[in-house]
Parts: sequence; structure tokens; C-alpha cells
Amino acid sequence: MNNKTFPLTAEQLRKLVATYPTPFYIYDERAIRENARNIKKAFAILPGFFEHFAVKALPNPFILKILKDEGFGADCSSLPELLLSEQAGIRGEAIMFTSNDTPAHEYQEAKQMGAIINLDDYTHIDFLESVAGIPELISCRYNPGPLKEGNAIIGKPEEAKYGFTRDQLFKGYQRLREKGARRFALHTMVASNELNIEYHIETARILFELAVELYQKLGIRLEFVNLGGGAGIPYRLDQQAIDYDALTRGIRRAYDAIIVPAGLDPLGIHLEWGRIITGPYGWLVSTAIHEKHIYRDYIGLDATMADLMRPGMYGAYHHITVAGKESAPLTETYDVVGSLCENNDKFAVQRKLPRIERGDLVIIHDAGAHGRAMGFNYNGKLRAGELLLRSDGSVVPIRRRETVEDYFATLDFTALSQFSSAEPS
Ligand SMILES: *Cc1c(COP(=O)(O)O)cnc(C)c1O
Repeated sequence: MNNKTFPLTAEQLRKLVATYPTPFYIYDERAIRENARNIKKAFAILPGFFEHFAVKALPNPFILKILKDEGFGADCSSLPELLLSEQAGIRGEAIMFTSNDTPAHEYQEAKQMGAIINLDDYTHIDFLESVAGIPELISCRYNPGPLKEGNAIIGKPEEAKYGFTRDQLFKGYQRLREKGARRFALHTMVASNELNIEYHIETARILFELAVELYQKLGIRLEFVNLGGGAGIPYRLDQQAIDYDALTRGIRRAYDAIIVPAGLDPLGIHLEWGRIITGPYGWLVSTAIHEKHIYRDYIGLDATMADLMRPGMYGAYHHITVAGKESAPLTETYDVVGSLCENNDKFAVQRKLPRIERGDLVIIHDAGAHGRAMGFNYNGKLRAGELLLRSDGSVVPIRRRETVEDYFATLDFTALSQFSSAEPS
């Protein structure tokens, strides 16, 4: 059983809403920092630990700046993510560029910034050489295929589009060395939202064994292995958060059994965790604007699936509470919905909740990762802004909400007024 809390009282939240109307995201700086410190502490039993925060989880430069202050870097997979990291002061090898199906200009930018390029495919070796040149430090992404069982979101590795096969990996490092690479890293990511620590320890073991084989067969000594992202968070009340110490002890045992006897100590351990870094410390706050009673009972919010896509897209569970009614009895069964003309625009289906009145503030939990970031503009919906609850209790806006002007920014109405709708003859 885990406890879903919100860092403001109902009264504090009411006051905040007077200044910043709902819907908005709010993130808890103190909790994000505390979590970052706990992770660093647990991983300190392993050499060369470094976390590249997966920018896609929460692409806000204020958050990136806080994480940088805690010693974290960034994991990027697009040009805008690289530029955001740069804005937050994250530079050079603190950035891991783990992309796939990568366009030439993105490799060029990553190379220019000195980011660690993590190749997704054997053919990208020659592609990278021709568009940007081979850097001194290079990483390859491994897809273990049937060696590793699947996980619910990411699926079976042999059905995933990412990475090199085992054979390609051995050929790849040789080819990279021939082309001038001198420093090497190895990456894999085979899970998403995985709470089972054995799964993550097993991933480390697979990479450690490969590191030994690469050394013994090719004489290539890796600088670090990157275990990717995919650490899960307990969205549901009956789930347990990952125990960082148990996880790192398990990785350490595998390290001592595989890396140390092969004479490869120290080998750095990098991560690209996203969700677990900020997910539990962000909330989507909305107002109940309608209730409707037909074959089911509905509560309509001022937020929509365009603000938070996970429930509609994956049927994902996000816990919901009502400000000031945290301990009220769960007497109602509601579908909690947004206003999209899409029937899957539901934050919760047949959820037991306290009686909700119009004007109640409805809090959607665990929205700090893959939340606003996955938002979209379907139906002309304008996405919520973002607030940061600072460690001193003050609240600062870190992204304004979208406006109609933002939505129209890619249209040219002057051209429209001169545009003849008659078919050109
Ligand atoms: C999405 C992603 C991550 C982060 O995943 P989380 O589940 O948020 O930890 C890390 N690396 C890569 C390559 C990704 O695609």
C-alpha cells in the first residue's frame, strides 16, 4: 500500500487557483530533489554512476536545471530535446543522445554539442560517419531479442524496433574502432514502467556479460554500460515503489560476480531513467465543471486527454483525489472525463470516488512524467501550463498555458485572405 499525497492543503490550493486557473500541472521541487539524492546514495555502491534524465518524460528546462543541480545529465532523442538540455546548462558528455531512425541533422547537432551518441543500428555507423564523422566516444544500443522476456508496455525485445542484434554488436564495435572511435559504451533498454527489480538486475547482468565478451573477443574495454530507462512507479495503491538499495545491491552482486573477476573494474553504470525521477512528484489539477447522469454517472473536468494521454491511450491507472475530500467515503462510482469528442477521453472509468460537486478541485496523481509531455492539440484543445512548488513553499510558473495564438502559430491568415477558393484552372 502506498500513500498518494498532494503537497498543498485544500485551502492553499484554492488560493493558488485564484491566481493560476485550472487546469495546470504542478511539480514538487523538494520531493524531486530528495528522490534524486536517494538514487545517488543507493548507486554510490557502484563505480562511475551517472543518470541521464530522459528529457521526453518532462521536457521543461526549469526541471532540467534542478536535476542538473543534483548532478544529473540528460537523455535526448531529438533536436529540440538537445536544445532544451543546452538551455538548462547540460552540456557535452552529460548528454546521451539515444535516438532511433535518426535524421542526419540531429546526428550533426549531437556531435557538435559533444553529446554521447548512442547508435541504434549497425547501418548508422556508416551513416554517422558520412553525415557527422565518428566521435572518439561512441555507444551502441543492444537488443537482446529472445534472450529477454517482454514487459507490458515495451513488448518483447525481438518485436521492438530498437538496437543491434548480438552479431551486429560485435561487428559494430570493430568497425567503429577501425573508423577511429577510441572510447566505447554499451546500452540497452528492455522495459517500461517495470517495478520488478529482478528485471532490472537481469538487464545489468546481460550487459556485464557482454562487456566481458567484448573485452575477451575484441579487446574492447567499455567505459560504461547504460541500463536505459523503464524503472516503474506505483501508480496503483497496492503497488510498491522500487527499493533503490535492494536494486543497487543486486546490481552490485552481478558486478562482483562478472565484472570484477574479468579485471574490468571500474566499469561505469549509467541510467536514462525518466518516469521514476519526476513521475510521482507531479499532479494535474483540474476543476469539475459538469456532472452528468445517464446510463453511468460522469464527472466532466476542465482538463482533457490532450493534457494527459496515458489513461485514454493505454488504459493507464492514475489515482484521483478531490481537494478537501481526501478522507470522505467513496460513495460514488464515476467515469471522470474530459471534453474531447472521443469516448476514450476518460481519466478514470467506473472509479469509486467521494461525491463530487461542480467547482471541486480534482487532483490527478503521478502525472509528473509522460504527462503534459505527451499532450496534443486534437479538437483544438489547448494544453495546460506548468507550475513549480519550490522548496521554500513559493510557487512559480514554469510554462504558461497554451493560447489560441499558439494553436494558430503555424497558419498564415494573410495568405488565407488572399487565397482564392475557386479551383485553379
Ligand atoms: C523513454 C525512454 C527512456 C525513459 O523511460 P522511463 O520509462 O521514463 O524511465 C529512456 N531511454 C530511452 C531510449 C527511452 O526511449
